Amino acid sequence: MIRLWSACLCALLYTLPAQARLPLTPFEQAPQRPLPKAAVVSNYLHTLAKASPLASISRLGTSAGGRPVEALLISRDEAFLQGGKLASDKPTVMLLGSQHGNEPSGTEVLQILARRLLDGELAPLLDDLNFVVVVLANPDGRDLNRRLNARDENPNLDFIAVKSPETRLYIDALARFQPDVVMDLHETWNHKWPMTPREGFLTTTDAQFEVGNNPNLDADLSAYANQQFLPRLIHAVAVTGIPAQRYNEIYSVRDPVRRGGLSLSNFRNYAAMQGSLTVLFENRHDGEGQYPTPMNIAERVRKQLLCVQKALALVREDREHIRQLARGARQQWQGSEGEDRFVLQYGFTVNRQQPKIPVTLQRVDGQQVTKAFRREDAIAVSGIGTIPPGYVIRSQTERFRRWLDDHHLRYQVVQRKEILTIKQQRVAAVTIAEHTRPGTRDWLDVKLDEKLQEAELKPGDLKVSTDQPQGALLAIMLDPRSANSLYQEPQWRPLLLTNPLPTAPLPEAVNGSAQAAVISGKAHGSAPAEAKARG
Ligand SMILES: [Zn+2]
Repeated sequence: MIRLWSACLCALLYTLPAQARLPLTPFEQAPQRPLPKAAVVSNYLHTLAKASPLASISRLGTSAGGRPVEALLISRDEAFLQGGKLASDKPTVMLLGSQHGNEPSGTEVLQILARRLLDGELAPLLDDLNFVVVVLANPDGRDLNRRLNARDENPNLDFIAVKSPETRLYIDALARFQPDVVMDLHETWNHKWPMTPREGFLTTTDAQFEVGNNPNLDADLSAYANQQFLPRLIHAVAVTGIPAQRYNEIYSVRDPVRRGGLSLSNFRNYAAMQGSLTVLFENRHDGEGQYPTPMNIAERVRKQLLCVQKALALVREDREHIRQLARGARQQWQGSEGEDRFVLQYGFTVNRQQPKIPVTLQRVDGQQVTKAFRREDAIAVSGIGTIPPGYVIRSQTERFRRWLDDHHLRYQVVQRKEILTIKQQRVAAVTIAEHTRPGTRDWLDVKLDEKLQEAELKPGDLKVSTDQPQGALLAIMLDPRSANSLYQEPQWRPLLLTNPLPTAPLPEAVNGSAQAAVISGKAHGSAPAEAKARG
């Protein structure tokens, strides 16, 4: 392996700069061998960045287990390579591989993709797109051969409370690169529990796709993603002979068919809320079996790479439209209820137009059978919340400051006492919800007493305006009744027992008072002047 590696490097040195061929990825060189560890993957990325003037490495941060998380930037734009700046009108595409360590294909796909972008075959994509390639999003998972990070956290479902270092650095990357498109590469096992051992069936779909589906996403971007991009992608992949469909996980023949989770706590929906066209790839993981390569990895990589290339071709085709929608959503979010309102609760429900759907399964003896499944992929919404002009935070301020910083939300720290009218919120009742809402988390029903009152702010208290690019997110996450409320997160739930709540909506806009210093540890990529004016 080492000898092969240095032989490739030598070959590289001799042939540069004229028409250099970049070395094959470690996996391509030895597809029968155990997959390369994180350090080997990182070495390969550094090799590409050294060999090509079109690539650079950006270190995003460090995993829970102390491993570097890196992005390979690929562009014809020098300014972009220097720092990912939006120096051109080209849309930026961010790709993440293997957020789950036991879904390794994505990391192999993205190394091959990077080489082909730099080395000829896919280079024409650089005429129109810039790339941020996070080849190995969860290096702990790869090295420890597990789904989660070294602290057993799932970075993919952590986007409200932001507990894991990986989630924090993915959010930092979204803020820094402001990608117009995000592609998130996963795999899903064809063996399901209890369906495979108990009922004797495996799933058969090779390629499943989902886009942002939270009801509070920007309405125009969401309509395009769900009604145009997703069906076109499924079609483009299906015509190559790879069975493709919308993402759904069935674990039993008695399950209904739904879609991917609706919550903003997952990466796909959080990134879409930031204004990216977000595409989830869930390609089939074949597990153990008789295959030419271990667990059929070469075939899994081939198929997922083809899916990514189809998606990139669609992005390229629609680049003007996507850029306009994504940047519009980022600067001027408008949900389905308008720019000042949001949906409080939602969940999957019966699809009345088509209450049954045929699903092809494979019996463990190999024979394919098609069964009718209940279809519950419609989304029912209930309750409308109002996005106030701002919030004050009067206790737990250090904790809230860290949380606001994690989300790149700007705030002011009160320097001198001042009197303000606030909408004081008290929790009148908390009960465990009678009905679970499929597609959202377990749930506490919160009843609030609200009243307008004068409050004295003391030094150190916080004022947060919703007049900023992610202002809507503040209300969606700070309203205790919201399906995506921070107060519904396990570590934050005890605050529901403190009255009044630490956060209170403001009935009137927060002005940049001379008494308050404007502070944000991690300013969002956008300048304040770009912030939208909210009625
Ligand atoms: Zn996954």
